[in-house]
This record gives sequence, structure tokens and C-alpha cells, in this order.
Amino acid sequence: MIIKSLELYRIAVELKEPFTTSFGTIWRRETVVVKVVDENGNTGWGEIVSGSGPWYTYETIDTAIHIVKDYIVPMIRGREIDHPKTFCDIVKPIRGHNMAKAGIEMALWDLYAKELNMPLYSVLGGVRSRVECGVSIGIKSSIDELLKAIEYYLDQGYRRVKIKIKPGWDVNVVCRVRREYPNTPLQVDANAAYTLSDYRVFKSLDEYNLEMIEQPLHYDDLVDHAVLQRLIKTPICLDESIKSINDAKSAYKLGSCTIINIKPGRVGGIMESLRIHDFCMTVGIPVWIGGMLETGIGRAFLVALATLPNVKYPNDISASNRYYVEDIVEPPWTLNSDGTITVPTKPGIGVEVLEDRLRKYTVKTIKLIP
Ligand SMILES: [Mg+2]
Repeated sequence: MIIKSLELYRIAVELKEPFTTSFGTIWRRETVVVKVVDENGNTGWGEIVSGSGPWYTYETIDTAIHIVKDYIVPMIRGREIDHPKTFCDIVKPIRGHNMAKAGIEMALWDLYAKELNMPLYSVLGGVRSRVECGVSIGIKSSIDELLKAIEYYLDQGYRRVKIKIKPGWDVNVVCRVRREYPNTPLQVDANAAYTLSDYRVFKSLDEYNLEMIEQPLHYDDLVDHAVLQRLIKTPICLDESIKSINDAKSAYKLGSCTIINIKPGRVGGIMESLRIHDFCMTVGIPVWIGGMLETGIGRAFLVALATLPNVKYPNDISASNRYYVEDIVEPPWTLNSDGTITVPTKPGIGVEVLEDRLRKYTVKTIKLIP
């Protein structure tokens, strides 16, 4: 395929309710939707999941647009790209900027699957028709408010609960939640808010039968996580620390974690996600798919990845109505009563982008090709 048209839509969508993590609170999600059209007139969609500011990673909406416009587009303009892997090889000289690369690569996967007339999940080697969904609940102003939120999402059918923690909002909160919900699959995510000197917090959490503790220590660390994992029983799951297959291999060798959360944006795309998935499968590290408050477009790629065989835990893939009043795809992503999302079987990402609605949320359209 040759990209005849490439457009970025910088969009901003109000969230249904503010979402608070150890980084801070967001009230609206800004993101970048990618649209590519090939020489046969087929359209592919992708999403750049960087945040408005450099909090989860160093990337931002503005750095991503800069990298796509000034580096990626000149590299791919007029080039024959027979497979998304070719794109990965072409952009390899760009160090980092994984979310920028991933957004374009996703659009190429959608195109590629549509040209094969196959649903994306089967192009990727997926093995299931429904994926398990957990819900991620942000930090609340009180534990009672958190308990109310948990009850609400469990009623909707979500299969496990993940709560965000930070110093001062951790063991006390987990203790209360466990008392109310002794058997619900429960995990916590610290988003790198602690240091090794806080290890007693995690030793205390060992009492509460958590599925895992996600990214307790520094976002770039593997060594201290390896030390911590030896001190506690609860499995450590790494998120921010795993930015590539090399990180996954190092984490395995060091014993930094026993579970990995794969986010395609964080690791530079679907191809790298597949590599990490396959490596983890050979060494016995189960994985699951994490989310970045994607719109329905980015969510489609998470759903497709969650069909892979070594995905062994519920994913942070929620229904469209978890975060948004309305989605920009049709049909919106909905939760089945058994806490799963049905994998679409139409070619490509399997959902239609509502271009009128996309335009309604667009702050700026950036035409890069032609
Ligand atoms: Mg996380």
C-alpha cells in the first residue's frame, strides 16, 4: 500500500467524570485521531494516545504531532509499505516517541486488515471472540465514594476492580475494600508513586490477596522492582517500565515482575506488542492489555490484542460509556452481562468511525499527505 492521504485530527472530549491518578486529575481527554487512505481508496484509522502533558511518558500531543509531521511523514511519503512491519523498519531511526509511531502504525494495521478483508484480531493471531474486561477506578475524595463506584461497576458486570493508589491512599483503602468485597478480583496501580524505602506498604498489601500490584516504583526502573518482588508475595505487574521488547527481556532476566501490562501506544505499536506477547508466552509471563482512556478507535486495537492466547487476566478495556458521553465509533463498545466485550468480525478494526461526530470534537485538522 502507498499512503495517498494522511490527516491528523486533534480532538478534545469531555469525560463523564474527572479521573484521578497519582499524576493528578483530568477532566477532558485530548487525543489525536489518525486517518490514512491508500491508493485503492481504503481508509485506515489509528489513535495517538499521548496525554496533554508529559506525565505518563515524556510524550505529549504536541511532541507527537511534531514527530509525525517532521519525521515520520517525510520517511513514508510515496513509499510502498507492504506490511505494517515495513513501517516499523522505516521509522526505526527515530528513537522513542512510541505513541506517535504507534498511532500511525495502527492506522496501517486497519488498512492492511481491510485489504485482506479480515478482522484485525484474526490478522494478529487472536484466539477468542470475547475479551474479559476489568474496570480501573481513579482516586476518590473518600473511601465511601470509592466503595460506591466499585458497587456501580460490579453491577454493570466488570470482572475485576483496579484501584489507583498513592502514598496515604493505599493500605487503608485496600483494607476497607477487601472487607466489603472479600472475593472480588482486586488489584492496585501506583503509577510509580513509591520508592523502595516504602516496601513496608507493599508487604502490608500482601495480606489482601491482590491479583497484582501495578508499577509500584519509578517509571523507568527495573532493578528496584526486582528487589521489591523478592520481598513481597503479591505479583508485581509492570506498565510504565516496559517500553520495548528489550525492557520485557531485561525485566524477565532480573525478575522485576511476574506479569506485564501491554499498552500498544507505550511500546511503539502493535508489532512490538506482539513481540512482547510472544516473548512473555515463551518464558511464562502472563500479560493483559492496558488502556489510555482511548476513544472507540484506540479501543478497537486493545480489543484485538486482548484476543491473543497469552492474555491471562481481565484487561483495562471498558465500554465506551465508562469515560465518554458518546463515542466517535458505531457501534459503541458495550459490555456484555458476563463482563466481556464481543470482538467485532468485520474487516479491519470492525467499527465505523462517525466522521461528523469526530469533526464535532476536532480542535484542529492537520493535513500532512498529500
Ligand atoms: Mg498502569
